[in-house]
Amino acid sequence: MDKTPTAIDDVRYKTYKRLSIEYKKHVMNFNLNSMKMKTVKTILLHLWQLPQHLIAWCLILFYRQKRFAGIYKTSHVYYHSLLPNSWGEGISLGQYIFYDSNNIWDETVIAHEYGHSRQSFYLGPLYLIVIGLPSIIHAAVSTGDYYRYWCEAWADRLGGVERYTTKS
Ligand SMILES: [Zn+2]
Repeated sequence: MDKTPTAIDDVRYKTYKRLSIEYKKHVMNFNLNSMKMKTVKTILLHLWQLPQHLIAWCLILFYRQKRFAGIYKTSHVYYHSLLPNSWGEGISLGQYIFYDSNNIWDETVIAHEYGHSRQSFYLGPLYLIVIGLPSIIHAAVSTGDYYRYWCEAWADRLGGVERYTTKS
């Protein structure tokens, strides 16, 4: 008579033990799998944007006058004093933004550059040819409104910058 509850308790305890071990295994596997997935995703993203990321990594490694400013959405933002003023306020190389605005966090500029980051995400290895080259040429020769040029207007749209609706 005394043994019945103990036996039940024992079974319950064993079940509890087994389930908790299984649960721990499940959680560990889940974490491991999501970590693996994250790593694979990161590697693929870097490979997809490799040309622009190679330039960005060289700048980060060898260019001394830069300072890490923070993360904006998915992009790493660096302050720098790399470009002549006529080149504009920033350059976006894949998920890296180099931003020249006297170390002041300007949401409009960074959001615009983030728009270029998204273009890089969509275009991958074509980014430098489709966006980078026309953008540089346009910056050098343009006399009109720089941000009305198609690849700049597209970057504004992707970054959520409303440049012309706020101005009268
Ligand atoms: Zn731009």
